[in-house]
Amino acid sequence: MRDFRCPRCGATTLIESTTCDACGLEVGLHPTSRTFHPAPTQGAEVDGQWWYPCGNRPWGCNWLVRADSGAGTCFSCRLTRRRPDEGDTLALEALATTSTDKRRLLLQLAELGLPVRPWYEREGGLGFDLVSSRSDGERVTIGHANGIVTIDLAESLDAHREALRVSLGEPYRTMLGHFRHEVGHYFEWVLVEQTAWIDECRELFGDERASYRDAIARHYREGAPADWVDTHISEYATMHPWEDFAECFAHYLHMHDTLTVAAAGGLELHGDAVLDSSLDPDRRAVAPRASYADATMAELLDDWLPLAAFFNRVNRAMGKADLYPFGIVDAVARKLAFVHRVVAASRVPDPIVA
Ligand SMILES: [Zn+2]
Ligand SMILES: [Zn+2]
Repeated sequence: MRDFRCPRCGATTLIESTTCDACGLEVGLHPTSRTFHPAPTQGAEVDGQWWYPCGNRPWGCNWLVRADSGAGTCFSCRLTRRRPDEGDTLALEALATTSTDKRRLLLQLAELGLPVRPWYEREGGLGFDLVSSRSDGERVTIGHANGIVTIDLAESLDAHREALRVSLGEPYRTMLGHFRHEVGHYFEWVLVEQTAWIDECRELFGDERASYRDAIARHYREGAPADWVDTHISEYATMHPWEDFAECFAHYLHMHDTLTVAAAGGLELHGDAVLDSSLDPDRRAVAPRASYADATMAELLDDWLPLAAFFNRVNRAMGKADLYPFGIVDAVARKLAFVHRVVAASRVPDPIVA
């Protein structure tokens, strides 16, 4: 269960907070238990060990770091392998906002029990190159290779990212979405391609050994097939089996996080108004669960689809675009079910070893 609260007054605390909005207490997030604790400069004891605020707290990092880790920065910050040079103020500001999305991603991976083994402990471990294409001498392509996820910090600038979204014809483009997509590549690599899951994966998504270079050229020359909506979650997913898996993985994380937030807030949707005719007519409420670890993907989607439709109406009430501008056809539901089973089977007890 996700339950972020101030340790002093009990007020609900945002995942990004460094202070409690209600009582002003300086708080820090203890990454292994995923709970907030007081964060005095000299540190504090949590579960019998001493924890300090992360050295990047002046840049907005609210995680705690274990005193005996020998590091001045937290687990999330240490996963960053490359970052902008000191003095590159604009890029460092972009790093700070982007790191908030990275921490959200890592907390979610921990909730799902997905193993995160750092790049500095083993070859092929997970790491992040967070650099900006606007910095002198940098050429940045968002992507994943051998455990390292590269993110272009310039995309955290709204005008730049939005211009890309429009020119690429995408309904949704966010920094959090980039993180979720790119770790999808990482987890396909470690949890599927190196295991017995690969055969079923190829049946559903296609053979990932197909030339990626040819796939890119074809995609940018011809675009997606006309009937892509019958088989894929997005046009980009049609490019190559790797992209299809990464897109489905990202969507799985979108759904899981949104359902988790709804469940933590006690949200329930009542009545016929939210249930369309395709759903079980005996259902009279949609109540998101605290965890879907023991549920099927079909059960998750039974909650997700009416909830997403409801949030889309909420956004429209504010003159905003749909929260979830996607449809889930049967072929995509089968791919999502595969992702769900891989995630459930890959759970480890201590996903973050801070
Ligand atoms: Zn408080
Ligand atoms: Zn940190």
